[in-house]
This record gives sequence, structure tokens and C-alpha cells, in this order.
Amino acid sequence: MSWNELAKKQQRVTEILANSLAHDRLAHAYLFTGGRGVGKKDVAMHLAKSIFCLDDPMDACGTCINCQRIASGNHPDVYHIAPDGASVKIDQVRALQKEMKMRAVESNHKVYILEHVDKMTIQAANSLLKFLEEPPPGVLAMLLSENGHAILPTILSRCQTLVFSPLSAEFITSLLIKEGIPSGVAQVASQITTNLEEARLLSQSEWFAQLRAMVIQLGKELRQQGSQALFTIHDQLQRNDRVKEELPLFLDLLILWLRDILYHQIGRHAHIVNKDQQNALQEQTFQWTQAHILKGIDVAMETRNRLERNANPQLALERLVLHIQEG
Ligand SMILES: [Zn+2]
Repeated sequence: MSWNELAKKQQRVTEILANSLAHDRLAHAYLFTGGRGVGKKDVAMHLAKSIFCLDDPMDACGTCINCQRIASGNHPDVYHIAPDGASVKIDQVRALQKEMKMRAVESNHKVYILEHVDKMTIQAANSLLKFLEEPPPGVLAMLLSENGHAILPTILSRCQTLVFSPLSAEFITSLLIKEGIPSGVAQVASQITTNLEEARLLSQSEWFAQLRAMVIQLGKELRQQGSQALFTIHDQLQRNDRVKEELPLFLDLLILWLRDILYHQIGRHAHIVNKDQQNALQEQTFQWTQAHILKGIDVAMETRNRLERNANPQLALERLVLHIQEG
């Protein structure tokens, strides 16, 4: 990992930190906020390594003994705290404070990485606050959180906040393809989530492939007369518990599919996500009118809301089929 590589994921944040490091202007405490999988921990680890790296103190080499010790959690001046169970407990923060009062073992620096700081108990947060008010020299704390809104204002005001942006679909797609995932699957998965790890799991899982197949089959049946679409839904819900659990995802896939049919119709091929399904798209292009597609997307979104409000899945889907068919 290097700043350049990290910049592909998080350009702004990476530039700010690399710059501050180069000019010896790092803050004593940072709060990194952003969704899961956007690279907060990677950036924190790289900054920690850079501070102690024997080869390149501006941009850690990743291979020297210090970089390796930090990566494996064995550097005496780099501390890593993650929630012990559901929350960061006061004992963890107390141990940390005690640690902070001691001199750095091997240099003038100490680095603390605290994950999920929004999950600190109030006591733990208060004792962290004491440190943030009077940070010992040479200490750098990086607080990581997926949920910046849940951080106490008193802590917020003592940290420099860096907001990590969600990963772009293009970035996730290209990474998954490099890992050997077929491009069509990678493309669909990266439209569904901005979390790289989640996108990777989706693209590798059997049930995700099943959900996609079900969506494409329904795309055809929804525009045919008769009750085949209802039968398919009933059948899938009966046979596959996972389908039942993943109905919001199913609806997202349905919306993507209908959108692709529309793009296919109006010739905007570059926008198509299900690129590996050209034949099915070609076929269904003639089945759907634009009015039907828009109605379908509308009903799918409405159904998603209903499910969020705990509607009965079977009934919600039957209603979806009937509404789209009568449209
Ligand atoms: Zn190094």
C-alpha cells in the first residue's frame, strides 16, 4: 500500500494526510468517518506505518521491520483498540490512558487507532476526552467511525474530522474484475452496494446468482398473460429461505433490470449494468413499453418501502405482480 494506491479509493483524505505528514503538520487527533469498507483502517494503518517506517517516513514501504510489526500488531508504540463485545469499555480506554502517560518505547512517537469510537460507553468517552484535551507531545490518535453523527460533540470538537467518501461503482467493479469475477456480475454487485467487501461477497455467492436469474425470468413473465409470474414467486419463496430474507435486494435487482431494458430500448448501451445478459435484454426489449417499465420501477420501489414497514413478503410480492401486470 502507498499513498498513491490509497488515493485511488480516497483521494481527498489521502492528499490531506500525506501533505500534513510531509510538512510535519499532523493534528494530534483525527476522526475518520465513512461507511464500512471505504478504507478508514487502511489509511490509519498506512499513516501509522509512515510515522515509524525505516525506509520512507513520508510513505511507508510496508516491508521494513517496523512496517511489518505494525501490520501484525506487534509494534510497542502503536496501539489498536476495537470494541470489546458490543462497545468500547472504560477498562480499554483506561489501559490506553496509562499507556499514553508512559514514554514511547522506541521513538518519540505513539500512535493510537481506535475503531468504532461511536460505540464507546459514556465513561470510556469521558476518559478519552481527558486525553484529547491535553494530548502528550508526539502522540497521534486516529478515531474511526462509521457513524459520525453518534460521536459526542465534545469529542468531535477536539478532533480534525476527515470524511471518507463512498467508493464509486466503477472503482469496485474494476477491483472485482481484477480478482477474477466476471464483469457482468461485478457490475451488478457494485451497483447494489458501495461496500467493497459486501460487493465481493455478493458476486461470489450462489444465492445472488439465483436472485438475478429469478429477476430475469420474472422480467419475461411479468409481461405475459396468465399467472406464471405469481407461480414463480410463490415457488421461489417456498423453496428458498434466502430469497425471502433478501427481498429488498431482489427488488433492487428488479429495478436495475427494468432500467437496463429501458437503456437498451433507447440505445444507451454504455449505461447498461447487466452487460452479461444481452440476449435476455434483447428479448425483453420488445415485451416492455416505456410506460410499463416506469410503472414497474415505481411499484418495485413502493414494494421495497412496504417491506421496510414489515409488510407480509408473499402478499407484497403478489401485489407487485398484479400492479405491474395491470399497468
Ligand atoms: Zn517501512
